[in-house]
Amino acid sequence: MKSRKTKKRGLVKQFKRGRVCKKIGCKQALSVYNAYEYCHLHLKESLR
Ligand SMILES: [Zn+2]
Repeated sequence: MKSRKTKKRGLVKQFKRGRVCKKIGCKQALSVYNAYEYCHLHLKESLR
C-alpha cells in the first residue's frame, strides 16, 4: 500500500449501490467496488 489516506469518501471509486448481476436468473448483488455488471461468477462467462 502506498497511501493510507483513503479514509475520506470519494477517493475510492465506487459504483451505484443496489445493482444486481445482469445474468438472467442471477440475483447476486454487486459490490459498489465492482466495475462490471456481472457478479464474479458470471463475469468470466460474459467475457467469453
Ligand atoms: Zn451472476
